Amino acid sequence: MHYAIIADIHANLAALVAVLVDIERQGDVEELWCLGDVVGYGPDPHECIALLSKTNHICVAGNHDLAAIGRLDLSEFNPDAALACRWTAKNLTAADKRYLQSLPRVIEKEDFTLVHGSPREPVWEYLLSVSSARENFGYFKSQFCLIGHSHVPLVFKQSKHGACSFSQFPPNTALELGKERLILNPGAVGQPRDNDPRASYAFYDSDTGLVKLHRVPYDINATQAKMVKSNLPMRLVARLSYGV
Ligand code: ZN
Repeated sequence: MHYAIIADIHANLAALVAVLVDIERQGDVEELWCLGDVVGYGPDPHECIALLSKTNHICVAGNHDLAAIGRLDLSEFNPDAALACRWTAKNLTAADKRYLQSLPRVIEKEDFTLVHGSPREPVWEYLLSVSSARENFGYFKSQFCLIGHSHVPLVFKQSKHGACSFSQFPPNTALELGKERLILNPGAVGQPRDNDPRASYAFYDSDTGLVKLHRVPYDINATQAKMVKSNLPMRLVARLSYGV
């Protein structure tokens, strides 16, 4: 069966639409696995929740999802993120808020654990170093863990002897799921931060055990124009051009 793994949509409807079209091109998908931050930063929080809700999907809560419904203190956010979050909160319907409220922080699905940040701290921890990954392997039971939050596609691997290694997750290269435990980040749909502005997601084929990262161009200008119109911070607008 096929599964698409997406994270950090960040209210970027143009990016989400492009990714969903690309996923459909890859073949029938049983279920979409979403790793949180559906909203925040971008101009289309309601539209992204509405579109995602039409798909067969499961989703965990991200820090921006929780902040938008008042479940996280904005003092933890930088000023641009806090401003965007207050804007997001004003642009959600009651149904959107109910959807965000319904999101669990951890989902266990067959061989996978889904979280936004890390298995140790599902909402807040950025998992970007081998040392923190090594500790985090102790915080989930399944063989694989899927994370978002850093917006950087990457793979942490734990060998049988407990050693931990890190690698980039390059596009169009199939990663074979073997016996080792892995923590995987599929990159961000709506605000990539690995110097590639294209939307990022992963496609998993459970029959072959292969996971492949895909990068998808989308109409960045369309999203930026909406952000400018909504007076969202210019730094957030500009970074989409560069994927930073
Ligand atoms: Zn995010």
